Amino acid sequence: MSLRLYNTLTRRVEPFVPLEPPRVTLYTCGPTVYNYAHIGNFRTFLFEDLLRRHLEAQGFDVLHIMNLTDVDDRTIKAAAAAGVPLAQHTEPFVRAFFEDRDYLRIRPAHVYPRATECIAPMVELVSRLLERGLAYRGEDGVYFAIGKFPTYGCLSRVERRELQTGARVASDEYAKEDARDFALWKFADPTDEQAGAAWDAPFGRGRPGWHLECSAMALQEIRRFGVQTLDIHAGAVDLIFPHHENEIAQSEGVTGQPFARFWLHGEFLQIQGTKMSKRTGNFLTARDLKEEGVDPAAFRMLVFSTHYRQQLNYTDEALEAAAEGVRRLGEFRDRLVEAAGAAEAARGADAGGDGLPPLPILPPLPPVEELRRSFTAAMEDDLNAPQALGAVFTFVRAMNRELDGGSLAPVQRGAALAVFDRVMAVLDVLPAVAEMDAEFRAWVETHLREREAARKARDFARADALRTELLARGVELEDGPGGTRWRKRRGMEGGGL
Ligand SMILES: [Zn+2]
Repeated sequence: MSLRLYNTLTRRVEPFVPLEPPRVTLYTCGPTVYNYAHIGNFRTFLFEDLLRRHLEAQGFDVLHIMNLTDVDDRTIKAAAAAGVPLAQHTEPFVRAFFEDRDYLRIRPAHVYPRATECIAPMVELVSRLLERGLAYRGEDGVYFAIGKFPTYGCLSRVERRELQTGARVASDEYAKEDARDFALWKFADPTDEQAGAAWDAPFGRGRPGWHLECSAMALQEIRRFGVQTLDIHAGAVDLIFPHHENEIAQSEGVTGQPFARFWLHGEFLQIQGTKMSKRTGNFLTARDLKEEGVDPAAFRMLVFSTHYRQQLNYTDEALEAAAEGVRRLGEFRDRLVEAAGAAEAARGADAGGDGLPPLPILPPLPPVEELRRSFTAAMEDDLNAPQALGAVFTFVRAMNRELDGGSLAPVQRGAALAVFDRVMAVLDVLPAVAEMDAEFRAWVETHLREREAARKARDFARADALRTELLARGVELEDGPGGTRWRKRRGMEGGGL
């Protein structure tokens, strides 16, 4: 089995093979830090998180690069409106972005280059493009001449006849109908100077265009490997044109190498069936969810319930259903852990060499084998998370039946828990309260081991004291031939550590 991904460049699902396995260089366009990122942005970042986690689970050695756009038309405009220098305006939003990322359990990228700290490689890129005749000076900046780059439009498939060569567009964002020469570098105007957003360059003092930033930062980061091609470049669908198209033109115009082998694009998120819009109040940030007490696992579950290439409809009902699914997974894991806790105790007794026969080697349980197979198969099929989640819930139902039957050997429960946890390490959709429970479980297990040791040493007073201590926190013990089982009495929470 091997990973297949939909490549926007070829419009096909293709086997994914990195340039130099097991290394994978992954560049994902980061937030523009002029404001808080909204949940549509985070849908994209979550799809990228899932991609990264799956690659890592499959043994790839991922270098994840995410840039922070801290200078562009929008940041300068917002800083001017707030009447503060650019850096002062963007800094709190950078911090907020990292907080939101952690809240949603998105694995941090390995590097977060900031545009304002990478001006030198941007100036270098523009100089090289000018040397090669792919760029020219206009009255308000340096422009990329799309007519001089024969493969312009290869990603977005803009028709050659639609290209308005010689005509210019200065703004960072524009539509396909405006496929024309775009600004690489914008000469400084008084607003830029006031915001502290102007830098000296041999071709004129100014600031980078948004598209240039990503090319320069990506190439700079992968230079450490002596390569000029990314394995994967990802972002939201609205970045295909012009942003990613322009990134290709700028990078390949200089390197002559493919800029990225795979281009992955995540679809939009809608709220209650309509496009998110601040104007109509149909707009949510990650911090809105946090303030409403939404379990981050529920939001992750909601996002993964729709394939990343399909539009996702965010509704209160969908979020509630996702939260219910998350609760079921949490309860199932608790049940499995209690059962597997007995397995741990049994192993401890075995290791003690006290004459007990070794644990029998049992065939793997069918649901465990099925989860292992079907989860991986779904994820390898262009990250089919909805299908992967389906496999998880099928497993939970089958295992609950096995646990009801009560005929499972402790080792089998342990194996089931191990597979379940591996799958959860990719999806990360267990309820937030489970983290508290994990601490509690560790406490219980330490006490159980101590009690077991005390019993072996025939220190029954100490063993009884430990039992009483456990009972005080609602933990009931049941000693059996397979070891000690424990269960938490209902209504007794694991708090108060
Ligand atoms: Zn970008």
